[in-house]
Amino acid sequence: MAFYSTQELDELRNKADIVEVISHYLQVKKVGRTYRAQCPFHDDHDPSMHINPEMQIYKCFVCGAGGNVFGFVQNYEKITFPEAVAKVADLVGFELSSRPDVQPVKSDPHKDKLHQVLEDSIRFTMYELNSAAGRDKKAYLVKRGLDDEMITKFEIGLDPSYDGLYKFLHAKGYDDRDMVDANVARLSQRGFCDVFADRITFPIHDSYGNPVGFSARTIDPNETAKYINTTETDIYVKGKLVYNAHRARNEARRQGKIFICEGVTDVIAFARAGIANAVCTLGTACTNDQLALIKRLAVQLVFCYDGDEAGQNATWRAVRMALDLGCSVSVIDNKTGKDPDEIVRQDGPEALVKLAGQEISWMEFYLQYEKNRTNLSSYLEKKEFIEKVRTQINRLPDETDRIYFTDRLSEMTGIRLEYAAKTRSFEMPGRAVRPVRTAVPQGIASAEDQILIMMLKSPALARMFEDDLGYLIDPVRQNAAVSILDSIHRTGRADLNVLLDLCHDRDVSDLLTSLASSDLYDLEYDEKMMQGAIGKVKRTYLQNRAVAYQEQLTKELNPESRKLLMEKFIDCKRRLRQNLDEDGSHD
Ligand code: ZN
Repeated sequence: MAFYSTQELDELRNKADIVEVISHYLQVKKVGRTYRAQCPFHDDHDPSMHINPEMQIYKCFVCGAGGNVFGFVQNYEKITFPEAVAKVADLVGFELSSRPDVQPVKSDPHKDKLHQVLEDSIRFTMYELNSAAGRDKKAYLVKRGLDDEMITKFEIGLDPSYDGLYKFLHAKGYDDRDMVDANVARLSQRGFCDVFADRITFPIHDSYGNPVGFSARTIDPNETAKYINTTETDIYVKGKLVYNAHRARNEARRQGKIFICEGVTDVIAFARAGIANAVCTLGTACTNDQLALIKRLAVQLVFCYDGDEAGQNATWRAVRMALDLGCSVSVIDNKTGKDPDEIVRQDGPEALVKLAGQEISWMEFYLQYEKNRTNLSSYLEKKEFIEKVRTQINRLPDETDRIYFTDRLSEMTGIRLEYAAKTRSFEMPGRAVRPVRTAVPQGIASAEDQILIMMLKSPALARMFEDDLGYLIDPVRQNAAVSILDSIHRTGRADLNVLLDLCHDRDVSDLLTSLASSDLYDLEYDEKMMQGAIGKVKRTYLQNRAVAYQEQLTKELNPESRKLLMEKFIDCKRRLRQNLDEDGSHD
């Protein structure tokens, strides 16, 4: 940490007891050796958050949130790490050598101003919708099934006239410049006017819940643009915002999944059906940045785009991007041809509840999707179809899935395809009796978790990991391993609390606190156990490489490149066999 020295943080941590600090924010109850509190990071009705005074960490066993005393204050107050340290210092009366308000990363007064402009714009538009001026617009919303509860929840409003909002903000003392910068007003030939004049407004927030802009709908049938959104501003960054993320986050974590749909009205339709964990990407073209934002929730991404052709194309595009980012993905099997909003309006909320339950794997979706675009009576198209689908089948981490979808592909095309035999020969060279490995991700995750626990508990075992393996497959676990090694290099040990200070990635702190709180942590570990876990990770890595080379081989036409790929593939298989033999000698 550049801002404070490790020594200063250590001193402060020794003084700031986590139970005492959390008690400033929450009601804390002592249960046995630990303390419990209602978790503020999800909609908690039990005291699910455990506070461990011995380790000086907190951990919620429902939503997974966890960290040390600074992490708690940072996440609770939604402030930066240096600010959280200063806050903790104030709470316990500790004198810091420097204060974070000299930091340039502190909140930006210009952006704060724009948020204020939008906050007041929301209040004004909400008021206008319920006034006499908003009568026909309100009637329109009610006709579309939106009651007062939904209108209030989503802060839906109305910008009633040519310059009504501008005049209101002007009277409140806002600068014209700030209104233009927030993209609620613009300069026309007749002076300043509203950007969203005569439109129903749906406020858009960033992931912290700060208002950043609007999506605005007209009900005038002659208007060409049905919806217009805020254009790029200092706080509205196109392609980096996910509508409703701040409201959906807790429910998504609780349920372990998040629905991703196309439009604002779809998200509201989900809410009407009692489903709070839905977001939308504000237009069909979903971006990498948006998916990366959603990925941070570490939940299943369930795509629920429109049932029409454009919607299905957008689904496959988004699924592929999400898979590349390493997300866990599924798709709602929407054959209705309607979007979620139309379904709720025409068939009622229960129809959407039913549809939301029709979740299929992304591979199942892709198989149908590609089939609909292929004329299977043409041999050439059929062949191309098989190649495309097989490439995707190779991405499936679970072997049973790969066999199953290869069989499905055979059925669809009438061409007998064998995946199973091929896989068996490369996965288990000379070991026909060994059972087929399934659920690779789960198995590998637990081996990687064990490695991390051993690294946390013993610098010697951590060094052994560094020498013999040096990487983990799961990106979050890999980051955790790097942090542990970093700490050992600097201080000779891996103190959990120091690690939590150094690493500001929430996924990593949630993971590290989970590991420290798990029963596995109390076990005794030795070199042999480290060797066993390293062997498992190595094998999975080699298997993944082999599948990737095989996939590339199906596409590569250049003979030289093919030769090179084939050599790499064979080398992979050889090392895999060697690894299995070594593993056998340890058993
Ligand atoms: Zn929680």
